[in-house]
Parts: sequence; structure tokens; C-alpha cells
Amino acid sequence: MKIVIASRNRKKIEELKRILQGLEITILSVNDFPELEEVKEDGLTFDENALKKARYVCQQTGLPALSDDSGLEVEALGGRPGVRSARYAGDEASDDDNIKKLLEELAGVPSEKRTAQFVCCIALVFPDGKEYIFWGYVRGKISEIPRGTQGFGYDPVFIPEGFKKTFAEMSSHEKDKISHRKEALDKLRDFLIKFAPIYKQNLL
Ligand code: IMP
Repeated sequence: MKIVIASRNRKKIEELKRILQGLEITILSVNDFPELEEVKEDGLTFDENALKKARYVCQQTGLPALSDDSGLEVEALGGRPGVRSARYAGDEASDDDNIKKLLEELAGVPSEKRTAQFVCCIALVFPDGKEYIFWGYVRGKISEIPRGTQGFGYDPVFIPEGFKKTFAEMSSHEKDKISHRKEALDKLRDFLIKFAPIYKQNLL
């Protein structure tokens, strides 16, 4: 079975290939289909964005397509930055700009009210119209100041539950064991282990 990943991000493609290793699946990406256009992430929810990208790639290629959308939800901010995590401080914002804006908005909010979660949503869409969604979460708190140099995005200000370190103070190995992306990818892998052989026999 072939699956097309609806992303041009090399890190994401490599991570997915690693997680899906050993399954009878050939992983392609939109880089293998240069004629495909960029899909605008203008949905109001993570699943809306993930489904929009996967549906487009599935329709255009005629192959099963996989897409993800992720972000940070902060309780004291009513769930912001949420689906706007990558562009929170503006369309061209850097990770540092986004962190600065987040910390300014949380100025004066006490530790017990700085609760947050990272969310990862993966959508898998098949040419026969079947659609599946896999969710992953990691809960934690937003620190007062950025700490650490590993990772990306909001990692320097996110302290996962049960830890004192931020994600950016952890090795990638340590973060990968508990991350929202890992949880969603594990669910996807379990699904494909059960589903891929059936798909091959019955549908192709
Ligand atoms: P997208 O899923 O590629 O659209 O981008 C999600 C955005 O959410 C990233 O640009 C980050 O700002 C944030 N984000 C998602 N996952 C993580 C994570 O594991 N660490 C830090 N920031 C993250």
C-alpha cells in the first residue's frame, strides 16, 4: 500500500517514515507530486486543517493521504494560540516572536493558572471516502521565562506535567517518549498494523 504525506517538511516526513518502518507501506510525500498546490491552513480547528490538506492530496493523487496539524492551547487564554500557533505574532513571526507574545499575555498569571496542552491531530483519508483521525496530547504549564535550546516552537516555555524541565531542556529522545505527536503517531501505527493487511487483500 502507498500513502502520500501531505507535507514538504523533511523532518516530518523522516519522522513518519521512522514510525511506520516495518509496515508494508510505501511512504511518498507531496515532493513526489510537484504539480500539487499548497493548501491554506485557514480552518478553525486542528482536525479541519488536517482533513483539508489530506483530502486535497488524496483527490489529486488518487492515493491514501496523511496530514497533521498541531499547536499549543493555553487555558488562561481561552485555548489560544491554538490553530494559529505557528503564526501567533504575525504571518512572518519567528518562534522567539511567538514566545514573547505568549509570555506578555501571561504576565502576572500565577503558576497554577498557567496550564496548557500541546495537541497533535493526524488525518488519514482514503480514495474510497473513508476518513480517520488520530489525536495526541501532552499537558503541562507555561514557564515564566524561556529555558533550554533543544526542539522548536514553544518548547522553551512548556514544562510537561510531572517534570521540572521545559521541553527545550530535554533531549529529543526524552521529549519523543511523552509528546503529543508520539501519542497520535502511535495510534496511527496501531491502526495501520491492523488495517494495512485487510486493505491490501480487500480493497486494492
Ligand atoms: P504545524 O502543525 O506545522 O502547522 O505547526 C504547529 C505549530 O505549533 C508550530 O509551528 C509550533 O509553533 C507549535 N508546535 C506544535 N508542536 C510543537 C512542539 O512539539 N513543540 C513546540 N511547538 C510546537
